[in-house]
Amino acid sequence: MESGNGDRDGRERNGRERGETSDFGGRYGGDDCAESARYPRPDLPDDSDATAAAVGIDSTGVGPGDDNDIGAAEFATVVDSAAADNAELADNVELPDNVELPDSTGLADNVEPPDNVELADSATSVEITSGVTETPTAFLDARALIGCRHRLHLNATNPRALIGVLEDAGVRQRRDAADAHRSRVREALIAADPEAWVVIDPSLRASERAEATMRVCRAGTHHVWGGLLPQEPDTGRRGGSEILLRDHDRGGYIPVLVVNHKVTDPRRPEPADFHPVTSDPYRWAPKPDPYRKLRQQPRDQQRLAHLYRMLQRHGLASPALVGGVIGYSFDRILVHDLAAALADYDQRYSDRIAVVRGELPTVPSKVPECRQCPWWTRGADGVGCEGWLIDHRDVSLVAPGSRAEVLRGHGVHTIDDLADWVGEDPEDWQHGPFDEAVITARAWIAGARMVRRVESVSVRRADVEVDVDLESFQEYGAYLWGTLLDGVYRPFATWDPLPTEDEGRSFGEFWTWLTNIRDDAVAAGKTFAAYCYSRTAEDKWLYESAKRFAGRPGVPTKEQVRAFVDGPQWVDMFQAVSDQFICPNGKGLKKVAPVAGFAWRDAEAGGEASMSWYRLAVGYDAAPDLGQRTRLLEYNEDDVRATQVLRTWMTDRADLEVPGLADFARRSIAT
Ligand code: SF4
Repeated sequence: MESGNGDRDGRERNGRERGETSDFGGRYGGDDCAESARYPRPDLPDDSDATAAAVGIDSTGVGPGDDNDIGAAEFATVVDSAAADNAELADNVELPDNVELPDSTGLADNVEPPDNVELADSATSVEITSGVTETPTAFLDARALIGCRHRLHLNATNPRALIGVLEDAGVRQRRDAADAHRSRVREALIAADPEAWVVIDPSLRASERAEATMRVCRAGTHHVWGGLLPQEPDTGRRGGSEILLRDHDRGGYIPVLVVNHKVTDPRRPEPADFHPVTSDPYRWAPKPDPYRKLRQQPRDQQRLAHLYRMLQRHGLASPALVGGVIGYSFDRILVHDLAAALADYDQRYSDRIAVVRGELPTVPSKVPECRQCPWWTRGADGVGCEGWLIDHRDVSLVAPGSRAEVLRGHGVHTIDDLADWVGEDPEDWQHGPFDEAVITARAWIAGARMVRRVESVSVRRADVEVDVDLESFQEYGAYLWGTLLDGVYRPFATWDPLPTEDEGRSFGEFWTWLTNIRDDAVAAGKTFAAYCYSRTAEDKWLYESAKRFAGRPGVPTKEQVRAFVDGPQWVDMFQAVSDQFICPNGKGLKKVAPVAGFAWRDAEAGGEASMSWYRLAVGYDAAPDLGQRTRLLEYNEDDVRATQVLRTWMTDRADLEVPGLADFARRSIAT
């Protein structure tokens, strides 16, 4: 288990089981604007009180504070007046008459596992105007353009239902990471040219922030950080941009987002039809970039189009019709051509605002977002989406996401419809063998948790077998390498809060121990194998640790890591499961190991929970809680024991206990 970010396969990652997702001119041209209003950087001596007051300069030195890469509807914190100023309110919290909170959601755009898990949120709000409480105005920000429409509907129609629901720990972690990222970007950009920037104070009320933003934009300010645009009661739009960048050539402003996900990847220059356009983050000079390849992030384009429309309303949109995104690596601004995105945005927006206003019906459909959605288990009328889907035997339970959409296009709405499919495969099915989709439906009906794809299940075995599982915390590091050999669990850990140099010590000890076991086995003429469940995280942290702690005692070179992970002794049990089984309920270790008879000691065990445990265990927020260290160690130990039990079961009993494809060849047998 790892408690870090975003692997999209096998085991639990941030609360989701690996394997389930597979189912589914100067600086900014700045020196030529002497006429523009200039404001000192907030953490510099302020000799312009009037100016600072006028625009509400943030004296904290922290970013806008209201934009996080999390959907605000990922959680609903308890709302009270004391919390209001910095509240992370559920978007749909109904406010007292005319109470306007600092807009804690207007800037946020994404639910963010930095590794591009796309979880959208329902960024609605219902504002009640004093004296007209019966006619609430629904607002929508750009986050709500991606993601579950039904969630949008539920949030809008049940604004109080999630009050008091605890925020998901993983969501909070990602939001904190996104906040920290934005703060870093802000500090760096402003430090490079403090005279050019105005920071809109995030502690102001939303209307005050919007007024300040309009004021500084109309004054021609070079760069605005944390700008919030006026809410639009008629269209329902609301939103803001981390950066509004003055277009000195054509006038108006270019919105630039700061997000905590990757927006490009490096590549070797090569002839190509298409090069993404990027700019130096400190000097706006967009040009085709042969050194980058694009990562598609539709949510960013949607948000930029949304901001363009809002700026356009006030005559503040740059005619260049572009927007920018500073991503996780903060090396370039990726420039998007908004002309190509506006038509899709307009269509989406009209659909989504109609949902919020109750003009279009919605129903649940299982999507990856469901895993962290509070509506999965709770509904306004008592039945959550999971219950509704089961009651309706909805096809999305076995064919989530876009699979269900394709199937509905062919008249397949229920699991039974899919199980009864006869004839040719749908021509637009692009999700692997269609036979397997049908068998998955039949297995679900029969209550089978796994189906054998192969006549005889096999898994690589060895004379000396070690199970390995790591725990990491966000991108800060890997604090625990757990191992199991001959039934004995050995953890290699650092409990200094990450990031810490001590991680190099524990990693070096882990590698030394593993290498010794392997070398001893070979010297004794025995075979050796090390097992993990979904190697993505282990491989990543092996390479990362070798790089970060190069030269420390016991730390391998990158070449040594590569020789190991590319060799036959490193066995990924997730791959072995994926190759040989269909798993109607998912292929995560928590789904599969129980079929082999394994049970975790801690009922709360999971990636999301472990992140909270880790914070307590190392004392980020208070004195270290040693009990949480024990809990993490037991969780890690159970994970390696689960891998071992699974391996043994696959070797000894799976053939007998798991039905094969032939058992589901016909619907009648399955049922
Ligand atoms: S549980 Fe899933 S279907 Fe239901 S509202 Fe949430 S994301 Fe949508």
